[in-house]
Amino acid sequence: MKDLTCIVCPRGCRLHVDDDMNVTGNFCPRGKEYAISELTHPVRTITSSIKVTNRDYTLVSVKTTKPVPKDKIFAVMEEIDKLSVEAPTRIGDIVKKNILGLDSDIVITKNID
Ligand code: SF4
Repeated sequence: MKDLTCIVCPRGCRLHVDDDMNVTGNFCPRGKEYAISELTHPVRTITSSIKVTNRDYTLVSVKTTKPVPKDKIFAVMEEIDKLSVEAPTRIGDIVKKNILGLDSDIVITKNID
């Protein structure tokens, strides 16, 4: 048995999962999906920022296009730390494709002119 909080939306339902993976406490079906995923294959979307090399003291925000396995978060963060871009940047620009072979790209989430 396991209790957890659904993080899919701000409502934050308290979920209860029994030994047979029956989920209760979820207001909507996404909570059940989240609970089962969290207990069998936990994943997270990573957000961070990287250097803009042609601007002084400037960072631009980035994120993974798909959630990555929780146990790969630190490895992905290390790879993100090595990245940099030149301005101008546009939301959705791909900085790194298929990071660590995890089928997720690193994309820009802020426009810088
Ligand atoms: S179960 Fe549904 S309503 Fe509740 S927090 Fe998760 S997504 Fe939101």
